[in-house]
Formats: sequence, C-alpha cells, structure tokens
Amino acid sequence: MLSLQDSVGSLAGVGPKRVDDLKTLGIFTVEDLLLYFPTRYDTYEVQSPSQAIDQQKLTLQGTVMSEPVIARFGYKKNRLSFRLMVENEIVMVTFFNQPYLKNKIELGKDIAVYGKWDGTHKRLAGTKVISVTTEHNQFDAVYPSNKAIKQPTIRKFIKVAFDKYESVIASLLPPALIERYKLVERKDMIREMHFPSDDESANHARRTAAYEEFFLFQLRLQAIKMENQQKNGISILYHNDELKEFIQRLPYQLTNAQQRVINEICRDLRRPVQMNRLLQGDVGSGKTVVAAIAMYATITAGLQAAIMAPTEILASQHAQNLAQLFEGLPVNVGLLTGSMTAKQHRELTAQIKNGAINLIVGTHALIQESVEYANLGLIVTDEQHRFGVNQRQKFREKGEEPDVLAMTATPIPRTLAITAYGEMDVSVIDELPVGRKQIKTSWLKSNQVGVAWEKVKQELLNGAQTYVVTPLIEQSETLDVQNAQDLYEELQEYFGPQYQVGLLHGRMANDEKDAIMEAFKANKIQVLVSTTVIEVGVDVKNASLMVVYDADRFGLAQLHQLRGRVGRGSRQSYCILIADPKNQVGIQRMQTMVETTDGFVVAQRDLELRGSGDVLGLKQSGVPEFKVGDPVGELKMLQIAKSDAENLLLTPSWETKTENLPLVEYLTIRKLQTHFD
Ligand code: ADP
Ligand code: MG
Repeated sequence: MLSLQDSVGSLAGVGPKRVDDLKTLGIFTVEDLLLYFPTRYDTYEVQSPSQAIDQQKLTLQGTVMSEPVIARFGYKKNRLSFRLMVENEIVMVTFFNQPYLKNKIELGKDIAVYGKWDGTHKRLAGTKVISVTTEHNQFDAVYPSNKAIKQPTIRKFIKVAFDKYESVIASLLPPALIERYKLVERKDMIREMHFPSDDESANHARRTAAYEEFFLFQLRLQAIKMENQQKNGISILYHNDELKEFIQRLPYQLTNAQQRVINEICRDLRRPVQMNRLLQGDVGSGKTVVAAIAMYATITAGLQAAIMAPTEILASQHAQNLAQLFEGLPVNVGLLTGSMTAKQHRELTAQIKNGAINLIVGTHALIQESVEYANLGLIVTDEQHRFGVNQRQKFREKGEEPDVLAMTATPIPRTLAITAYGEMDVSVIDELPVGRKQIKTSWLKSNQVGVAWEKVKQELLNGAQTYVVTPLIEQSETLDVQNAQDLYEELQEYFGPQYQVGLLHGRMANDEKDAIMEAFKANKIQVLVSTTVIEVGVDVKNASLMVVYDADRFGLAQLHQLRGRVGRGSRQSYCILIADPKNQVGIQRMQTMVETTDGFVVAQRDLELRGSGDVLGLKQSGVPEFKVGDPVGELKMLQIAKSDAENLLLTPSWETKTENLPLVEYLTIRKLQTHFD
C-alpha cells in the first residue's frame, strides 16, 4: 500500500544517486518531498511592454524578427540575441549562456520569453523561452535548490510524487478546524502550493499550509507536555545544608533574581514530577552559577547531573569552571565531546555508566545512543536556542525521567516564548549582578576605522584585552567584507610585536581553537580576531572592548550575544560597531544597538525591524523556524493553533475518532523521527 512515509526512492526516476541528492535538501520521504514548498512563483502571464515595469520579471510575447546570433566572450561565456516584435515595438532579447536555445527560435515564429525587463533600452534579459502553442502554467513554482539537484528535477519529482500519491493524502487537520477557518483539504493545499491555478487559491493554500505547520508544531509540544506531566518524575532530595554552604562559599552574593529562580528550581527538584523549565536571562546575568547550584543539589542527593552546550569551546569552558567551582567537594567532572579519541570516549562512558563521574559536561555527544548514565537526575542545556524540540526531548529520555533545565540568553518576547517553548515552564533572571558597568556602544562608518584602532591601543595600554569580530574567514569575491585572515595579518603588523594578536575561526580544528582560547584567557593573546565562533557563552573578564566589522551583516540578537562577551568583569567595557548600512532599517538597527543594552528590548526591536520574509533575523532570534508560517507576522495564528492543539488533546478519547486517525499516525511517526528539527 502507498504511504507518504515511503522513501523517495520508490518514485519512478528516483534512483539511489537521486535519493542521496534529495537527502542534501532534507528530503527523505515522499511526504518530505510533497512538503518541499516553493519559495516563490514566476508568473508567465503575458504582459504588454507599455505596461511593463522597469527591472521587473515578466513575460513578453511576439514574433521573432531576426535570426538569433551567438556572440562568444570571456572564458566559456556567450550571449544569444535576436529581435522580437511585440505589439508593433521592437524588443531586443538576450540570453546568457544558453546557446542551445538557438533551435527554439525561428525567424517569423511566435514565441513568449520570460525575463527581466530593461525599460530604458527596451531590452529583455531572457531566462526562459515559453512555448505559446501548448497550454502552460500561469505560475511556475521556484524551489530552493542546490548544486546536486536543480530546479527542473525537483519540480519533476514533485509532479511524479503528487500524481502517484494524491489519492492517499489525507487531511491531518480535524474537519472542524478546516471548516472553522475556511481552510482547504491537505490534498488541495499540496496541489495548489506546487501548481497554483491562480493567485487566490495559492494564497488559500499558503494559509492552510501555515496553519497546519503551526498546529502540528504545537500539537507535538503539547503532546510532549502532557506526556511529561503524566510521568512520575524523581523526587530529588538534596541536602539543604550542603547547598547553603556551597552558596556561602561563592566569591560573590547572588542577585535577588538568581535567588528567586534557584528557589523555583529547587522546589521543582523536590517534587516527584519531572521538571521541565526554561531559564531565560540576558547575557551576563549569571545563569551558569544557577545551573551549577541546581547540579550540585542533584549531586548531594546521590544522583548525576549533566550539562550540554552547543559548541566544544563552551563545553570545555564549562568543564573547567565547574571543576574549579567544585574543588574540594565530592564532585567528579567529566567532559564528553565528539572530538575525543575512541579510547578516551570508551573510558569516560564507562565511568559515566558506573557513576564514578557524577557531573557530565559535553556537546551533542551526550545524547548519543552509546552514552548510558548510572542515575541521571538533572539535565541542563546551555544556550537552548541552539537546540531543537527533539533534542530537548531526546535528552529528557536519557535517564529515568530526569529533571530538565534549559537555559537561553536569547530573550524572546514572552508571547512568543510561550508558543515556541510551549511545553515548558519559564523562569526569568531579569537583573544583572551589581557593579556591572553598562557596555558603551558606538557605531562607526568603515572610513572611521582608525578611531576603533586607537581605542584598541588605549585599552591595551590599560592592560585590557580586545575581541575583533568579522563575518568571514577568507577573502570572498562576492562579498566585500573584511575577512578574519586579512584583518589578523593587518592587526599583527599594527600591534605586534609588543602585543600578541590571535586568530580564531570555525574551520580550525577543535584543539587548535581550545589552545587559542586558552591563550586569550591567560592573557597571552591580547587582541583576538574571530568569526562568530565566540558568539555564545565565552567568558573572559579581562576583555573590555569588542570591535565588530561589517556589523550590519549580523542579526541584532547575534550582535547582542557578541557584545555580551565583554563587560563580564569590573572593567568599563566598550563595543564598537563598524558598518555602512545601505538603508533606513540598517541604520535603525545600528542605532538600537547603540541605544540599549537590554536584551529584551533588542529582541523586540529586532522583530519589529525585520521585514517580512527576512529569515535571517528570525534564525538568530531564538524563535523556531517554520517553512511556511511566519511566527512573528502571524503570531495570532500561532497562538490560535496552540489553543486548538491543546483543546484537541483535552478532548476525551480524541485519538480513537476516525477523523483523527491520520493525526495520531502523524504524531507516532514524528516521535520516531529526528530530521524534523
Ligand atoms: P550568562 O548568563 O551569560 O551565562 P555567566 O553565567 O557566564 O552569564 O555569568 C557571567 C559572569 O558573571 C561570570 O563571570 C560569573 O562568574 C559572574 N557572576 C554570576 N553571578 C554573579 C553575581 N551574583 N555577582 C557577581 N558576579 C556574578
Ligand atoms: Mg552562559
């Protein structure tokens, strides 16, 4: 029987090579393929040149008035051109590097050409010849594609898949909801998304797809929440005196906000239900020590605690700090990462399994199948926004219902937080440690960069260190951005040999990265040129200045994270953004950074300034990504989907109703899959 979960390999024309190609686009099953939606549509409705808008893509139809001529230039480049008579006007049509089109263009024949219109010169830069004799689609879907697999191939496969599987596409949404919101059946939604018959049905389909996406996302979150609530968690009976003593021994006084969230967490730990808590707090608000206290509490109860970080740098920093913090206490810290040798890995996992190590720090390596825990009581995830729903749940399933604390420094507006992290309770640290000086941020144009270098010099003379951040590693032909390698050499010349300049980027080997970070921490390097690998979590108190090149290439949330690398000690700290924004929004973004250091304000402004369809801002903002729906622009719909999902799950025996069977099946399958995130 046909199932949407069939591998794409079951389709005619999709062999093993193509199966691999499709994987590169995240397409495994027929359903993945059918839900691989276009990013836009090209319209082939024929237009008149008199109404054509300059620099727009459009289709013109006319009679070929001259033999096509091919001119060759450069290395392997060519241009085919001919004259086309369109409504008594001569239009020059050119095609670049498509010489084979010559056969399609016959003198005196009628053809239609799709391309970009140059109104001033009455020229059309063609991209496609459209046959006028056969009926053609008014719209052509345009898909995200890559080198391995091109547009026409994707389009062809989707057509093959739809024709074969159309009869088994059942609507997942309950009929009552389809009715209430005037949505379309899933089959029609999929057809219209790929092969729209007109604007209106395309919009209708898009709305259905967005709602379905939101609803399914929320249904999964709410299902997880309910499932977790039903489980009996462990009651972690920690030793209050030992915990108090540990807190007393800290080199500083906890802030009120830290104290409050620790109380919330400790209450959860004691209760025999599974804690599932999100800890939000701006950069530098001191989340790590809160996690450390919770982990210590767990360990005093005789259980293991684990903390997962998104990068190796961060994981090893945590391991070091925690080992130091727990010195002299019965805490054995182990660091588990992907770059260990097989032998190291084997030894460490054995100690995790027999309980000799009771505080496990690591990257994703912590949730691998091969890692077994002796008695995992608490799991902490740092920089939660880097992990997806499934990774959260996978970790939760590692022990026997361990408590979970997820930390994130990406403040997202509360309304969104509860929809995006809908399965969790939320605690917020809304206060910075006292004595923390505000980071002074300024914005310079690239021709004022000398001012920034002067400032670096001044900080160096004060004995402080500097980060210099740049978007790219190596010279790129297409992007005129400062790159780390060049900048590193330039700064070395300028500040050396008196001061040491270091280079850190994502393509370096892990031990190399660690060595550089160590040297910077130990003040053996004073100026660290880096890409965004230092974006999260890195903590060097003596660093007082951050210079960010091409700052307009970063999202605001990301800039805020970057800026959070300074101002972590008692030094007055500075952030200098170098940018030549090209439009008003870019200017406002830089001004926002100058005006505020409050992460929640930055996040809010980021979302406001983000144009529709600007996924970059969203990617960095900690809001989960959706394929069709826009969680910011369509927040209302997301909220509605949330309450609809909750209501459905609260309906007695909803899962036995025939109409909900496709949905039940969907949930069962999704629980077993990981490539959703
Ligand atoms: P983040 O919330 O960004 O992860 P960290 O946990 O790294 O922040 O803390 C930032 C710095 O502040 C650390 O160096 C930490 O030692 C210090 N810190 C944490 N809590 C306090 C406090 N209550 N008083 C003073 N310093 C603190
Ligand atoms: Mg942190």
